[in-house]
Amino acid sequence: MRARFQFLLISVLIFSTSILIAAPRQSLVPGGIALIELDRSDQTPHFFFQGKPVLISIIDAKQFAIVGLPLSLKAGEYFISGHWGEEKALQKKFFLVANKEYTIQRITIEDDRMVNPYAKDMERIFAEQKRQRKAKNHYSRARVDVNLIQPTPGIMTGSFGRRRFFNDEARRPHSGMDIAADTGVPVLSPTDGTVVELGDFFFSGKMVYIHHGQGVTSLFAHMSKIKVKLGQKVKKGQLIGSVGATGRVTGPHLHWSLGLNGTWIDPALFLP
Ligand SMILES: [Zn+2]
Repeated sequence: MRARFQFLLISVLIFSTSILIAAPRQSLVPGGIALIELDRSDQTPHFFFQGKPVLISIIDAKQFAIVGLPLSLKAGEYFISGHWGEEKALQKKFFLVANKEYTIQRITIEDDRMVNPYAKDMERIFAEQKRQRKAKNHYSRARVDVNLIQPTPGIMTGSFGRRRFFNDEARRPHSGMDIAADTGVPVLSPTDGTVVELGDFFFSGKMVYIHHGQGVTSLFAHMSKIKVKLGQKVKKGQLIGSVGATGRVTGPHLHWSLGLNGTWIDPALFLP
């Protein structure tokens, strides 16, 4: 009897989880996402946020624009604008963004060169930043399966958006999710995509960028091994590398950033 009750309970849990999987969760704050229903199905929507094309996806048989909200966004009213198919008429759809105070995180890095790089490091860093900007803004019209899987098993630390101080010096806020895992644990692609950038970077260590389509991009950093090649197509769940502690880190973990319309958002919003 008891076993049967447990079975029922587990069935209910699985059922409710499968409902949750169906949709990325809206979070109308900086670093969150806006889900804007597009109520026409007769024409292809072409909508933009701050000049960048936004992801269009079907959720529960309805069409939505899924808009990445930059961490630097101020509270207020915003809009996406665009048009349908070949029609000329410009449409605007408005939404409100609330304020969010992210917590402060203080990190001590033993190697101070990782916080205050030498002059000779700066040339390398600037060249890498240029490649990173290009990879972050990669765009193709490929369709995206937005039911992402967690790229590596481990505890997801809710550190997205934290305002960071390295050795007491203010640096940019944390633009991804850190998953605690040991060196060597496999890193899997959260959904289908194409490898658009990779290498061993000064701050991010061994890093891979995967473009999933329509401006949705994943970045994986601090890996010990990279198992893919530039331009390679990967499937959801395919091995792309191993967890490590390369670059500016305090220990082994996977850093995963998820970008929409050229801005990093909280990847947790896309996980069940
Ligand atoms: Zn991180």
